[in-house]
Formats: sequence, C-alpha cells, structure tokens
Amino acid sequence: MIAFMGTALFTSCGPAGEKAGAGDEFTYEVDRFEDISVLRYRLPGFEQLTSAEKEFIYYLSEAALCGRDIFWDQNFKYNLLVRKTIEGIIETYQGDREGDDFKAFITYAKRVFFANGIHHHYSNDKFIPGFSSDYFALLIEGSDPSSLPLNEGETAAGLAEMLTPVLFDPVLYAKKVDQSEGIDMIAASANNFYEGVTQAEAEAYYASLADPGDPRPVSWGLNTKVVKSNGVVTEIPWKSGGLYGQAIDKIVYWLEKARDVALNDVQKEELDLLIEYYRTADLKTWDDYNILWARNTGLSVDYINGFIETYGDPLGMKATWEAVVDYKDIEASKRTALITENAQWFEDHSPVDPAYRKEKVTGVAASVINVAMLGGDCYPASPLGINLPNSNWIRTEAGSKSVTLANITDAKDIVARGSGFLEEFAFDQAEIERAVKWGSLSDALHTDLHECIGHASGKLAPGTDPNALKNYASPLEEMRADLFALYFMMDPKMQEIGLIPSDEPAKAEYDNYMRNGFMTQTARILPGKDIEQAHMRCRSAIAHWVYEKGKPDNVIEVVKRDEKTYVRINDYQKLRGLFGEMLKEVQRIKSEGDFSAGKSMIETYGVRIDQALHGEILARYAKLNLAPYSGFVNPVMTPVTDRDGKITDVKIEYCTDYLGQMMEYGKNYSFLPAR
Ligand code: ZN
Repeated sequence: MIAFMGTALFTSCGPAGEKAGAGDEFTYEVDRFEDISVLRYRLPGFEQLTSAEKEFIYYLSEAALCGRDIFWDQNFKYNLLVRKTIEGIIETYQGDREGDDFKAFITYAKRVFFANGIHHHYSNDKFIPGFSSDYFALLIEGSDPSSLPLNEGETAAGLAEMLTPVLFDPVLYAKKVDQSEGIDMIAASANNFYEGVTQAEAEAYYASLADPGDPRPVSWGLNTKVVKSNGVVTEIPWKSGGLYGQAIDKIVYWLEKARDVALNDVQKEELDLLIEYYRTADLKTWDDYNILWARNTGLSVDYINGFIETYGDPLGMKATWEAVVDYKDIEASKRTALITENAQWFEDHSPVDPAYRKEKVTGVAASVINVAMLGGDCYPASPLGINLPNSNWIRTEAGSKSVTLANITDAKDIVARGSGFLEEFAFDQAEIERAVKWGSLSDALHTDLHECIGHASGKLAPGTDPNALKNYASPLEEMRADLFALYFMMDPKMQEIGLIPSDEPAKAEYDNYMRNGFMTQTARILPGKDIEQAHMRCRSAIAHWVYEKGKPDNVIEVVKRDEKTYVRINDYQKLRGLFGEMLKEVQRIKSEGDFSAGKSMIETYGVRIDQALHGEILARYAKLNLAPYSGFVNPVMTPVTDRDGKITDVKIEYCTDYLGQMMEYGKNYSFLPAR
C-alpha cells in the first residue's frame, strides 16, 4: 500500500535555490507545466556508502528502469505507440519548432510522459491536446519516417489517421479507470488488463479459481492479462517468453548481477526467487519471495521490484509494475524504531473491537529510507511512504516492511514552504504557526504511524472473504491506516516515549487533515467531477464523517469570513474520540467484509464534492499559482570501474532536464514493441 499525504503534495513555483541544508543551494523544481511541478531529489549520505553497496544499488537501479514500457502498456494499449510517435516528432520534426502549436505539442508530450500515458496519472481522464488533429498530422508527416513506429507498408499519414481518434476523440477511451457505481467497470476503463471480457465474466472466472477456504491464497490475477479466446475466458501471464517478456528479460539480467553482490544470503535467495518468478509467472513463487523479502529487515540497501499495486485495476486484482531502490536513513530510522517497538501497545490500546485486534503484531519493520531510483508506477509521481507486501496472510504470518521516503518528502516540504498556501487556507495565525513549527514532524509521524502500524493492525473475522469489499477495499484500507495514525497521534503515549514534546504536533496534524480532507484536496479535481482516487476518497470520507458526527457538540466548525470558507477545530480531544469511533467502525467493516456498510460510508462521505465550495477552492488556488501535483526526475548514475571492469564507485549527477530524461529513457530503456 502506498501512502500519499496532505499538504506536502502541493508545491509552489518557488524561486530557484531554496535553502536545502547547511548553506548549500539546490534548486528543486526543474520543470513546470499545466498542473505539474517536476522536482529533483537529493541522495544524502550516498557518498558514505561502501563501494559494494553502491554497486548493488547501481544494478538494482538499472533493473528499476528496464520495466518502464510495461507500465505504459498496462495503462493503455496504444500508449507505447503514442509515446514512440511523440519521441520521433520531438527528435526529428523539420518544421517550425518555435510557434504556439509546437509549444502546445511539447506541453502535451510532457503531460503524457509524466502520466506514463495519455490519461492523467491521478484523475484518470484522457488529456485533451492543446493543438488540432490537423497539426498533429502535420507533425507526423514532417518527421523522419525512420524515427516513427510505422508498420511495414504504413505511411506517416496512415499513422496519423490511426492515432487521431485515440488522442482527439473525447469519448473514446475517455477514462483509464472508471469505478462509477452500476457500470461495467472493465468496459468503461481504458487500461490494458482485460480485453474482450465483461466485468461479470472476469469476476466469474476468478470466483471459479479461488478456494474460499484456503488460508494462504495466492494473489489471483496479479500478473496476467485476461482475454477471451475461442469464447473461453483465459489469462496471458506477464513473464519471460510471455507478454512483456522482452522487458522482463532485461530486468532479470540486472537482477542477476544484483543477486551476485547482494548484502546477505537471504537477499541472494530472495533475488533468486524473484528471478524465478519473472521466468515462470508462478504466483506461489511470488508469495515465497515476499515472505523472504518481508522478513529480511534492517538492511542498508533494499528495493521493490515487481507487479505490486492494484489501484489501477477496477477489480483490484491486476498489479502495475513498479520499482524503487533505496538505502537507509539512519537518524530518522530511530524514530520509526520507537513506534515499532511499541506496536503491540498501540494494537492493544486501539479503539477497535477486541475481537478484531491482532493478538500479536508481527514484524512491523519500519525504516526511513532515501530513494536512489524510481521506476514504473513510482516514476515520476512518487509515493511518500510504502508498506508491503500486500497479501493479507503474508502480512499476518511474515510481517510487512514499511518505509518513509525521506528525501522525496523533504524535497516536497522544502518547495511547499513559503508558497502562500497556509496563509490562504489556514483559519488563523495560530494555525499557521503550528503548521510551520510542527508540520514536517507531524507529517512524518503520520506517515510512520499509518505505514508502521496502521496497515499492519487488525484482523479479519474467521471466514471473511479478503476480497469482499471489492472496489471499496482500497479507500477503506487507507482510512483504517489514516485513522489509526490520527487517533494515536494525540495519545499521551506519544509524549511518554519521546516522539513529540506536546500536543501541538498532533493539533497541527488535525488542522492539516481536516483542512485538506474537507477543502483543499479538491483543488486537484476538475469542476463538476467526483472524487475517484482511493487516498482522496479516504480523506474526504474521514473529514466529512467526523464533521457530521461532531455537529451536536460543535467539534468542527465551518466558518465563513470575507466570502472565504475555513475549517476550525473547536475541540481537539473530542475530534480524537471521533477518529477512534470511526476507526472502530471501519475495522469492523473490514473484519466482517461488510460490503454494504463500506459502500455506504464511501459513497455518502467520500465521493461527492459540494459544488459551491469546490468553485471557491479552485478560485483561491488559482491565485496562488500552485501546482497541484508533483513528481521527480531521477539522478543519473555512472559506474566507475577498475581495470578488470569491477565497479569501484558510482557517481551521482542530479538531472535538471525533465524532457531530456524522458527522451533518454525512451532511447535506452525501451524494450517492448510499439504495438
Ligand atoms: Zn496506505
């Protein structure tokens, strides 16, 4: 599970050279277009790693970049064709490259690169190009045909004709993922996980495979595309020699090198299993791998590589490909160690029904890490925290690893500071001061609590189908983790074990959470649209539920001042009680697989937006010149070798050219055919 947090997501177009540390100047923002800000992240302490650790990171990083095409193709079947066409135009177009049309084309290209496809990475809506289809045909015909993904005998005009409806028809492939109520979600979603099957057929197919009595079920459907062949529903696995085989073979090539220099024997064994899984697509091998990976904690270098997150599939089964390479942030890890040491205390004192608490919270390994490379579904838009593996029974039996991505979070925080956001949306000066003073700590602690114990807490009632909550599972799971964090943030235990000096950081977190869930997160949504993304539904549902339940006591007040709306918390302790009450109910829903209660909670509180308030928020936002979304370019790694070709060091350069990095990746890390 991936955690996206509150205000840190909003970045400003700040002046170059924000102070990042001990007097050194580092410009974080490297590009800006539409609703996107592209930042760099730094690799603090990388120089101090051993040459063996650096070599290991280098191989894992190459593996992280080699799966890029997979994610593009998963998002939509024509994405690679579109991207290769765009790359060909950027590289070879002979016509005017200075005019407004070409500028609009470059902006479109940047958006597509950022989203890993033609649909917005967050809203899932297809982009509307800022230029005409005639101009698009002109671009294609004015480019070198050898740079274009042309089939044999196909002309540039033919390619333009084929792609025109894909890019320009607003109805065709309009949404990457559509989870609206009462529709065939597979038919309505443009992503590339199912072809020629209805939702009912796919559900029936998987119902026939699953054994509800199996205490250790594999993650059915995780790594396949479902198709109909001769009228029969069947799966095509993503593996070496199968679908995506050309990219998977490259990933395996680098993983084998990494395996040879792994940091311990378990990590070697673990990489062997991952390689075997990529070769066979065997889900039991995937589980075996995850058990070893989850138990192998405390490493100075670790990684994520595989088909992991299922947010992109409307049925929540198929996983997008992603990769992260990371190394430990030693100082900050002490903070999460404190939380982890007390995990059982938190579980025992959680407000949920004792029947749904875990008797023994196992192996909640949390550490603060710095990212060295992002790939697939984590690039360029990166999560701030990650908790894996996702399989429920493996989490129960082998535990899970939880990480906070320190250098990514820092980059966002530094850019967000001084953006004018707080001055616009905070209720009063006290709230602003609290946020400035405690915002970084409270954000980090929320992520720690969410990841280290929130996701790891609780258990299912015997016989509950882990997939019972269907399309509501993701937002409900995020709510569980967020509510756990919110409830304990203000617990006296936090001060007792020295994580916070007073209630102030917790208050700052409550201010931030309510402001965001009630108001500011909707700045990322177009007028008239509903909330769709799981983390956003989670935050909206929590904010609106506690607001409504707290009405009799006026716990939270919506205040109008000079035509502007503010959220004021009148009673923090009572709000904490409401978070606890809601946590109890959400855990009950999950433990009992109460689909209708889960659905009603999300649909009532998490989906719809007050149109008048939304308009106001958007207008206030527009004045701030903030980018609602941000993502990252990766550093460039160059290995230094000795006379025998052995890697002795890895040099890091911080890329400042977003489009350049995209073009470079297109050239050096593209292994799948365009169609
Ligand atoms: Zn989460």
